[in-house]
Amino acid sequence: MSPAGRVARWVRPQIRSLQAYHVPDPGDAIKLDAMENPYRLPAELVGAWLERLRAVPLNRYPDPTARALAGRLRAYLGLGDELGLIFGNGSDELIQIFLLALGGADRVVLAPSPTFVMYRMIALFAGLRYVEVPLRPEDFALDTDAMLAAIEAERPAVVFLAYPNNPTGNRLPREAVERIVEAAPGLVVVDEAYAPFAEDSFMDAVGQWDGLVVMRTFSKQGLAGLRLGYAVGPRAWIEAFEKVRLPYNIDSLTQASAAFALEHSAVFETQAARIRAERARVQAALARLPGVAPFASETNFILFRVPRGLGRAVFDGLWARGVLIKDLSTQAGLEDCLRVTVGRPEENDAFLSALRSALEAAAA
Ligand SMILES: *Cc1c(COP(=O)(O)O)cnc(C)c1O
Repeated sequence: MSPAGRVARWVRPQIRSLQAYHVPDPGDAIKLDAMENPYRLPAELVGAWLERLRAVPLNRYPDPTARALAGRLRAYLGLGDELGLIFGNGSDELIQIFLLALGGADRVVLAPSPTFVMYRMIALFAGLRYVEVPLRPEDFALDTDAMLAAIEAERPAVVFLAYPNNPTGNRLPREAVERIVEAAPGLVVVDEAYAPFAEDSFMDAVGQWDGLVVMRTFSKQGLAGLRLGYAVGPRAWIEAFEKVRLPYNIDSLTQASAAFALEHSAVFETQAARIRAERARVQAALARLPGVAPFASETNFILFRVPRGLGRAVFDGLWARGVLIKDLSTQAGLEDCLRVTVGRPEENDAFLSALRSALEAAAA
């Protein structure tokens, strides 16, 4: 039988019907599609960082528990001994670990919609049923009563709440999250990928609820290339997840680099502050463009709506003008919506000027 024949015979139908995750090659375009921090490690720190890497013994396996890094991160977060900490190869891998640990044919994952696509994808890979509660179409607010009713009806093993949410950029009210954590029978993951850009956090509340685990990542903060995420929760949860984690999931160079970054956390905090200031400026500029409606954001990106039916044309017009953003306009609930990551001031200016002409061309 041909390879394709064997694939048709053996690869699970749910997987065969998927499209592989497609990321366009940005070439020389201005890259504002993936919530990356536009700033690199400052030149004056590169030497010290390389010195640190020089000492890493690459002939040895990494420390399977990343002890040195964990110590630094615990101090940085002020974690008490009653809490556990687990690292993932990006928070994507942590989502996979949670769902492998809690999966099963009769198990449900519950999340608002639209939200981060990997919750749904990994639920599918791990064989859990994925249930969505739609956000209000006009402002992406959560219908808390509908969410509580879904918890009652579905008894989900896992609830994911991106806090703030991707791709909408807004944050649920804290009180809504508290009510959901009170009501949920299993695990509630509060995903704080955008913590450096947000005005609230549940990190200090971990331990107050039996089901609450808070997840974060180094990616959006300036180290997307490292692939490092972490989750904090009651020890019993983290010990269960540790059983599923592959022993050497965090390589030695990542462990050393992340520890170095934590020693210089002020650098990353300054970069995040600069991005938040730029976010306000871009948001105001978008609001002044005729026919453009930006949504509120506590992240490093802005979701905005363009005139009806023009989403794809405006995205293509930006791409033709050398600016890559994210087209969400074909997703249910996100009609006419595009998402731009906040970049450096000159990148944002180039985006705004390309958007102005792309809008005119699309409307003509
Ligand atoms: C980007 C993102 C992640 C994934 O982060 P990685 O650590 O890079 O895997 C997780 N959750 C949300 C909501 C995100 O937007």
